[in-house]
Amino acid sequence: MQYFPLFHKLSDKTILVVGGGDIAARKIHLLQRSGCRIQVVAPSILPVIANNPNCHCEWRVFDPADIDGKALVVSATDIESVNQRVSAESRARGVLVNVVDSPELCDVIFPSLVDRDPLIIAITSSGQAPVLARSVRAKLESTIPASYGHLAQLASRFRNAVKKRFTSLDDRRYFWEKVLGGTVAEHVYAGRMEQAEHQLKAMIDAPGDEQHGEVYLVGAGPGDPDLLTFKALRLMQQADVVLYDRLVSDAIMDLVRRDAERLYVGKQRSEHAVPQQDINQRLVDLAREGKKVLRLKGGDPFIFGRGGEEIDLLAEHGIPFQVVPGITAASGCSTYTGIPLTHRDYAQSVRFVTGHLKDGSLNLPWSELASPQQTVVFYMGLMGLEKICNKLIQHGRSADTPIALVQKGTTPEQRLWVGTLATLPDLVREDPPQAPTLIIVGEVVSLHERLNWVGSTVTVNQA
Ligand code: SAH
Repeated sequence: MQYFPLFHKLSDKTILVVGGGDIAARKIHLLQRSGCRIQVVAPSILPVIANNPNCHCEWRVFDPADIDGKALVVSATDIESVNQRVSAESRARGVLVNVVDSPELCDVIFPSLVDRDPLIIAITSSGQAPVLARSVRAKLESTIPASYGHLAQLASRFRNAVKKRFTSLDDRRYFWEKVLGGTVAEHVYAGRMEQAEHQLKAMIDAPGDEQHGEVYLVGAGPGDPDLLTFKALRLMQQADVVLYDRLVSDAIMDLVRRDAERLYVGKQRSEHAVPQQDINQRLVDLAREGKKVLRLKGGDPFIFGRGGEEIDLLAEHGIPFQVVPGITAASGCSTYTGIPLTHRDYAQSVRFVTGHLKDGSLNLPWSELASPQQTVVFYMGLMGLEKICNKLIQHGRSADTPIALVQKGTTPEQRLWVGTLATLPDLVREDPPQAPTLIIVGEVVSLHERLNWVGSTVTVNQA
């Protein structure tokens, strides 16, 4: 090991930083997290450093006497001879030194940090492949929830109580494993510190009595698994059972914990879907069995997703639940086709509307939807496409207003049909799309010609 990792307590120490530019500012920004005092020496010093209350600045050149009494020296100048001198003088005085970007002048180097204080992870490639170290860091950042630090703080508050309660080392380890991998941790990640503490106390008082179910109502986004949130992925990987429907893509289902039980509750071709009330009830029943239940929904659960109804019954029965937002189809489809939903020149507002025909009629505020300078997005509108176009024209929106239909947005089978209110229904009839599809109406649609960065197949008729 070329560099041995040690964690350095600096809170009561002073560090010397030679240099007052951008690089020095970055190092100071990092170092001050340790609570140390910082002395900065440089002929010119950026205001961001000079105004930093943790820094004592002196506007002059480096003097070797500056090193005396310091715990660490950082040289962050772009003058090679100064860096060399700072390094040599520090070494001569036995004070650890770091010179930015010059490993041969360094005794210590700065790692990449994942900071979940008091949990801290330091990563280095020993200066050999900094990009690799950064990519490891990014991976860790994405899998370790930001609130891990709160979990560590909670554990430290209860350390003595747990020690008293469980005398054997094995019992203690087993206890902490349950706490850190179970409901207590989930409460912390969801920001419910009080419940976490309550639950932890209960587990200390009555170990073995902590079987609690919970429901995660999670938005899976429009299809591309890369559009999942970190939180969605984490909950997907710890569920015992998952309820999903047609809108959740296979690529996303592949990311659910492998041995989780899978229950399909969507519509099969020509069959009926599981009635909504049954789904609601099933969530309650499964959670009562002590399971971690994942209700995975396409897009965002609170946009045309009946998410509100599903958690209503849970709330009524006092079952804990969390809701994780997802990227809704309108956002996914518009970005992946290069159609901005708003634009300073063309649309100052956007509306999300359901085009679902319950009884064959579409009761929508047509005159509002037909007004110019806005984008209207229709979910579930394919069956009613012709009616939608006709109604908008009847209520005054110009017949040559651009309109797009996006099939399976953000997936490899994404396709785009572009026309006008007058032409799109025919275009779609000639070449029928596959569900799910989304309709976008407004001048912004024409921007796809320049901005369609994904390059999916486009069928156009704007005549
Ligand atoms: N909660 C979901 C919407 C559910 S309603 C969300 O926030 O996106 C179902 C409708 O969403 C479909 O009929 C279709 O209009 C739209 N939709 C969902 N995913 C889509 C996708 N990948 N491409 C196009 N439309 C999609």
